[in-house]
Amino acid sequence: MSEEQETITISVAVAGEAEAEEVREALRGEEGLPATQLLIGSTEFTGPTLVVGTLAAEIDDDSLAEADRDFLPVPFAAAELRRRLRVLETRTRRLYAAADNERELGIIVRQIADAINVGVMFYDTDRRPRMHNRAVEEILELAGFDMATGQSTNIYSPDRYTPVKRDKNIITETLEGDGRGLIYWLGDPEEGPQRAVISEAHSIRREDGELLGSAIITYDVTDLATEIEMREGYLESISHELRTPLTAAIGYLDLIADGFDVENSGFAHEFEIIEHNVLYMSSLVNEFATLSKNGITLTVKPAEMRSLLMQSLDALRPAAEKARLTLVTSVPDDPVAARVDASRVTQVIDNLVSNAIKYTPSGGTVTVSLDQDGDDAVLRVADTGQGIAENEMARIFDRFFRSESARRMAARGVGIGLTIAKTIVDGHHGTISVQSRLGHGSTFTVRLPLRPKDAPLSEITDRL
Ligand code: ADP
Repeated sequence: MSEEQETITISVAVAGEAEAEEVREALRGEEGLPATQLLIGSTEFTGPTLVVGTLAAEIDDDSLAEADRDFLPVPFAAAELRRRLRVLETRTRRLYAAADNERELGIIVRQIADAINVGVMFYDTDRRPRMHNRAVEEILELAGFDMATGQSTNIYSPDRYTPVKRDKNIITETLEGDGRGLIYWLGDPEEGPQRAVISEAHSIRREDGELLGSAIITYDVTDLATEIEMREGYLESISHELRTPLTAAIGYLDLIADGFDVENSGFAHEFEIIEHNVLYMSSLVNEFATLSKNGITLTVKPAEMRSLLMQSLDALRPAAEKARLTLVTSVPDDPVAARVDASRVTQVIDNLVSNAIKYTPSGGTVTVSLDQDGDDAVLRVADTGQGIAENEMARIFDRFFRSESARRMAARGVGIGLTIAKTIVDGHHGTISVQSRLGHGSTFTVRLPLRPKDAPLSEITDRL
């Protein structure tokens, strides 16, 4: 035992003065326990205690911690007493050291929690607040959170102005897992800078799995949300600005086509190219406008999937022929009745099939099939084209994503068709997935609930 060690106190509980004297006698001249102060015969048996002999029965079990208790029957040998005391001392020092570590760790965690820009609140299993860090105080103040009612006055939707959750207890809601991953703006828009946050709850468990409570983590995502806003605003103003001249151009092209015999004018080919490009620009502008909005509104009505598909394919067949591709179709014999937004579903089909045509070299095959699987329609568009590299698969539905090979071959497109397709499919509560092998081809699969018996759903809105 080193000199620097702190003196610790060990009580020796004895029955009376006679036994106390025996203990003193046994320890007389004993230099082996320099760091230990002995409370012999003391009644303060709260710390580490060696119980000597007869007293054992009288000691209240609860008053001594299990780890601190030791018992030495009488009569005892002096050497045994000393040995027991040493064991007790070592054991106690170990316990104290562990407690010190724990305390230190607490201080470290506390200071780190206060230093970070992430709100952390901990609630026990009875939903009582047990701790929070400094960032939480700022967040709750900005949100206009009222401790007494649990309600907040200054929480806004992603548009920054529409108040939300005024009559909700946001803490209870978050603990129950609602609103996970959604961005909210905090702070009155008229009164200074707002901040964007995302909150989520995590269960905190002991190592053996027992639940200790839940932590609400609130991330400040103001910079990210501002970036998104700017990008969206940029898209919106570009599409708005381009729309007017394009509408005028399309109008004048129509006028020319109506008033002149373009076919025999000698510039029929040039006219067709201009018309084709203007229409392409117009469809791009429409797609940008869709992307820049907060969501997409679907108007769901009864429709027939087989004829939707056949109409799309009729329109795309010339492009497939021009690209020298074989277009194979397989549809069920019977109609497939569904409740969908027909024009949006057509947009999905058009996008998948025209991609298959665009990314398949001449001589290849594009196979489009429709099947009914229970209450779902399953649409597959398979091609024998360039395929998608494995490391690019995860990003294929991201906005503006274009594969390296698509960029290299300078294929026309800006990488938003699949994003819009996925939004439309998600809005119908369906799924879209892709399987692909680089250099061998890709298969896109769309599964759409047919909802044959549902009451008509007039509108489904989903965020892009
Ligand atoms: P765009 O075709 O306008 O670039 P999309 O959003 O429709 O945009 O597609 C995104 C990207 O996914 C494309 O740039 C291309 O890299 C890849 N892709 C889509 N469909 C296919 C396909 N059938 N075969 C290979 N790559 C594809």
